[in-house]
Amino acid sequence: MSNIPDNNEGKRVSLCCLSPDEIVTTLGLSKRFQGRQIYSWINEKHAEFSQMTNLPLQLRERLISEYQSPLSSHVSDVQSDGSDALKIAVTYPDNAIVEAVILSDGKGRNTACLSSQIGCAMGCAFCRTGTMGLVRNLTAAEIVEQFIHIRRLQPDTSHIVFMGMGEPLANTEQVIRAIEHLHDPDGINISYRRMTISTCGLVPGINTLRERQLPVRLALSLTGANDSKRDILMPINTRYPLREVKEALIAYQKEMKKRITLEYVMMSTVNVSQQDAKDVALFARGLEVVVNLIPYNEAAELPFCTVSNREFESFAHELTRLKVPYTQRLSKGQSINGACGQLAVPLNRS
Ligand code: SF4
Repeated sequence: MSNIPDNNEGKRVSLCCLSPDEIVTTLGLSKRFQGRQIYSWINEKHAEFSQMTNLPLQLRERLISEYQSPLSSHVSDVQSDGSDALKIAVTYPDNAIVEAVILSDGKGRNTACLSSQIGCAMGCAFCRTGTMGLVRNLTAAEIVEQFIHIRRLQPDTSHIVFMGMGEPLANTEQVIRAIEHLHDPDGINISYRRMTISTCGLVPGINTLRERQLPVRLALSLTGANDSKRDILMPINTRYPLREVKEALIAYQKEMKKRITLEYVMMSTVNVSQQDAKDVALFARGLEVVVNLIPYNEAAELPFCTVSNREFESFAHELTRLKVPYTQRLSKGQSINGACGQLAVPLNRS
């Protein structure tokens, strides 16, 4: 499927999060079954209007001339560093840009890392996106469009993580709407358990996920496991300290019965001491978790260095001694700044 040039006069609507009936209304179709046909073309085959060959030619021509595309956005850049990560820049009609990444694990599993906001207000000290501030929230349709663009490039993408730009639980309603659409078995059909929301620790959002009983996976970006350190690394901690976050996670786990991932971005001399490992173990106590150790990806404009091998081994050894399960995530996409917490694009000022 080709990407859409941004040189048209057509209306920029997104059909990506609409039901078949909403498509009928939005496009002014005379036949109801055509809403279902178009829904299927968009969500199962990720097609453009010109490719919807079971629609009458005249209708296809009208849709192209009036709307140009079922998507409102287009891919304005694709970057590969030759590793297992591919980053795309997605441009919306207001010229706002977000990044999304395809991560391949080398064993055939492809994961889409989606953005939920343009920029982010949370200001984590180690994060490139945090330096942008918040520009705006994305709509559910704009989030789904990122996935459709990714599927056009990598058709067998089967997993989704909300770990791109933005804090998903600061845009909870639109993220949940996008997840429900991505899950629809008659459409894109991604199982809930293949989707992960990663949060910096917004307690009201964690409570909302529990109340809605949304059976996705949950990850907490921990990165500092005592309040004084986390207040500096992740300022949201001054509003929702670790004790409150843990209470919310305990309540979540009691109802949802799902293991939670604790993401831990490792920065040399900052958060990788033996005491830091003990603090992680203390936070993990009473929760069923796995700690995901992520070596920091250095960014020129930020003053942090990645963990050394010696620091990593000693931290991991202490976790093992304290019986805290962990995995090590290889930091993919380093040379394209496409790894955790490091997506950022220049603000578009036009
Ligand atoms: S790490 Fe996540 S929550 Fe923190 S500033 Fe970056 S995007 Fe926002």
